[in-house]
Amino acid sequence: RVAVVLFTADLRVHDHPPLHTAVRRADAVVPLFVRDSGVRAAGFDAPNRAAFLARALESLDEELRARGGRLVVREGAVAEQVRAVVEEVGAQEVHLAADVSGYAARREEALRTALEGTGAALHVHDAVCTVLPPGEVTPTGKDHFAVFTPYFRRWSGSSHRSVLAAPRRVEVPRVASAALPPREVAGVSPQLEPGGEREGRERVRRWLARSASGVDAYEERHDDLPGDATSRLSPYLHFGCLSPVELADRAQRHGGVGAEAFVRQLAWRDFHHQVLAARPAAAHADYRPRGDRWRSGAAAERDAQSWREGRTGYPVVDAAMRQLSAEGWMHNRARLLAASFLTKTLYLDWRVGAAHFLELLVDGDVANNQLNWQWVAGTGTDTRPNRVLNPLAQARRFDPEGAYVRLWVPELAGVAGRAVHEPWKLPPERRAELDYPEPLVELGAGADRMRRARGLDRPG
Ligand code: FAD
Repeated sequence: RVAVVLFTADLRVHDHPPLHTAVRRADAVVPLFVRDSGVRAAGFDAPNRAAFLARALESLDEELRARGGRLVVREGAVAEQVRAVVEEVGAQEVHLAADVSGYAARREEALRTALEGTGAALHVHDAVCTVLPPGEVTPTGKDHFAVFTPYFRRWSGSSHRSVLAAPRRVEVPRVASAALPPREVAGVSPQLEPGGEREGRERVRRWLARSASGVDAYEERHDDLPGDATSRLSPYLHFGCLSPVELADRAQRHGGVGAEAFVRQLAWRDFHHQVLAARPAAAHADYRPRGDRWRSGAAAERDAQSWREGRTGYPVVDAAMRQLSAEGWMHNRARLLAASFLTKTLYLDWRVGAAHFLELLVDGDVANNQLNWQWVAGTGTDTRPNRVLNPLAQARRFDPEGAYVRLWVPELAGVAGRAVHEPWKLPPERRAELDYPEPLVELGAGADRMRRARGLDRPG
């Protein structure tokens, strides 16, 4: 019996239900990755993710070779390529991880159609990309939770599937393979982290080791911008180099308040996935429309461009945006305040910001990115949709001495202490020496503009 395992956003051998099942049921397995022309046509193969993916595929191939197998690579439209491989090796079954985006749903549909008449059955496995499958917990009479707290209560009370060992051997039949994608990709962020299951597992080991940093300090330090004390595991989760079930399981076994707070973040990830699974249109359309008429036109585009370049004149916002272009990653607190600044203070459409994040984020993910953007913009699941994060208050609280700003905004590196958060207050001669812009907008005026546009200041 021959099985094909189609890898998508699940690039690992540990705790991998499709591979685990296929190896158990079949004598030979084709571990297949298709360099999907659809993903490229959709512009989703941005350089940082393409580079991370190339390393993740190399790592997957190494893991499979260590087990007597190898990764088979094809290029083109996924469904056609899978069908071709099924026919070449005479496979009876195809295994795939369930995924939530509209794209993934269309891919699964296309696969079903392509496999018709081949005699191969499609097996779609749950809880590969999330801890709990979307839809596993729902409020009475509804298909998904729209608020995190009740979701989390149910999520915490449910048990996840058990963790699966990596297979000892993977027998791969003779079948042609294209080359792995090239490691070198143009336009990559200079400080991008390397992809892959081995790298990801090593990072988990370090993250969970008992120490004053890492998971044990997470509850206390996760919002500390210069302390940078979060796990940085998001890209490994996005590409499935790590299993969220195994990660939650290991953190729960580790125990403690830090691990609990960390597991709660994994539940946020599941939460957004279950919203997107139920409402795929939320990738583009407002989940809860607020009647916004976002600014547009030349001035709006100029403001958006200043934001993208990290030249808004608000140092902590600019530091966040510079971190994004340097690392292809941004601290969560920085994402929150940079997104709030774009949508609430500049009153620009969240889609403008989400698109820029997706262009650069190595963990750029439809569910997490679009729905976090909507959360911040107030068009999503936040129960306080009109709150505005004041960048100065955020800076004073989460970067009290200004170290994060000085790290990412070199123009301000010579400004000592917390004065770095308000360069407009420096003496004029000192100010003139810095090649750093004046604030794009006064904070109060920006927030008022949003409130007026949402009709919040109108009587009644
Ligand atoms: P940790 O703090 O160590 O958290 C552990 C894991 O929990 C993360 O790796 C991530 O998988 C998950 N997680 C944490 N916070 C969230 C959250 N708010 N929502 C969903 N999952 C979460 N995350 C992405 O993975 N991809 C994105 O494209 C993305 N875009 C975002 C855009 C905006 C505007 C905002 C505000 C947040 C976004 N996030 C996104 C969520 C969060 O910022 C990142 O997951 C986190 O910063 C990753 O760093 P970490 O791995 O060190 O996180």
